[in-house]
Amino acid sequence: MTATRIDGKAFAAGLREKVAAHVARLKSENDLTPGLAVVLVGNDPASEVYVGSKNRQTLEAGMNSYEHRLPEETPEAELLALIDQLNADPAVHGILVQLPLPKHIEEPKVLAAIDPAKDVDGFHISNVGLLSTGQKAMVPCTPLGCLLMLKDHLGDLSGLNAVVIGRSNIVGKPMAQLLLGANATVTIAHSRTKNLAEVARGADILVAAVGRPEMVTGDWIKPGATVIDVGINRIPAPERGEGKTRLVGDVDYASAAEVAGAITPVPGGVGPMTIACLLANTVTAACRSAGLPEPEGLTA
Ligand code: NDP
Repeated sequence: MTATRIDGKAFAAGLREKVAAHVARLKSENDLTPGLAVVLVGNDPASEVYVGSKNRQTLEAGMNSYEHRLPEETPEAELLALIDQLNADPAVHGILVQLPLPKHIEEPKVLAAIDPAKDVDGFHISNVGLLSTGQKAMVPCTPLGCLLMLKDHLGDLSGLNAVVIGRSNIVGKPMAQLLLGANATVTIAHSRTKNLAEVARGADILVAAVGRPEMVTGDWIKPGATVIDVGINRIPAPERGEGKTRLVGDVDYASAAEVAGAITPVPGGVGPMTIACLLANTVTAACRSAGLPEPEGLTA
C-alpha cells in the first residue's frame, strides 16, 4: 500500500482563501476589519521568520496586522503594559506573543495577561479550561490545523481509535481534547508509555508530536491508519553537501507510507496549517467580539 499524501500546503491555501473571503464580507457588510497584534521580544532568528510570515499572511488575508518588536532586555512590566493596551484596543481582535520569551520574563504571567477573548494562540488557562470542558474556546493553532485536516480527510471521527504521542500544552493535550470533542476514543502516549509501538498500532488516527526525528516507523502503524506528523526536526544532510541540513518529522515517511492509508509529509503537512489557523482564529475572535455568527469551517 502507498498512503495518500495529505497536502497541508494546499489545504492551508484553501483555508486562507476561506479566511480572506470571510474578511471581505465582514468589511463590506459589517464595516469590521479583523486585526491581529503580534508581539516579539528579542531577536531569536526562528521567531523573526515566524513573525514576518504571520504579518505577511495577515495582510494578504485583508486583515490589519500590528507588529510590536521589543528589545531583548524589555522589562516584564513593560510587556505587560503593552498587553493591557492591546487588550483595550477595539481594533485588535487577536493577540499573539511569540514564544519563547527571554529568560527574565515569566511566560505564564504574560499568557495570563492576555484577554482570553483575544487569545488566538489558545494558551490562556481560561481557553484551556473551556476546551477541556467542551465549551466554545480559542483553540491552539497547530492541533486545530490537524483536526481540520483529519475531518476533511476522514469525515466523521466518531468511534475511531486515536493515539496522540506527546502531551505538551501546545500540541499533545489540546489535540487529544479536540479528538475527544470529535467523539474519537483517545489515548495520550508520552515518554513513560510502555510498549509504545503496540499502543500506536491500535490507532486508526496516529498523531506524532514528539520532537524526535523519524521515531515512528512503518511497523508502528496499523494498515490503513491516518498519520499526522506534527514534528519538525532539523537533521544533518551530508548528501546535500558539507554542513547542510534537512527537515524531517517524527515519522519515518518512507516506511510509514507503505502501511498507512494517509499521511502528512514534513515539510508541507501540518506546518503550513498553523499560521492559516492563526488567521482563522483571528476572524473567529473578531466575529465573537462583534456578536456576529461564526464563520463556518474555520473552527473545531
Ligand atoms: P515538547 O517537547 O513540549 O513535548 C514532546 C512530547 O513528546 C512530551 O510529551 C514527551 O513526553 C514526548 N516524548 C518525548 N520523547 C518521547 C519518546 N521517546 N517516546 C514517547 N514520547 C516522547 O514538544 P511540542 O509538543 O512542543 O512539539 C512536538 C514536535 O512538534 C516538535 O518537533 C516541534 O518542533 C513540533 N511542532 C510543530 C508545530 C507546527 O507548526 N507544525 C508547532 C509546534 C510544535 P514527556 O511529557 O513524558 O516528556
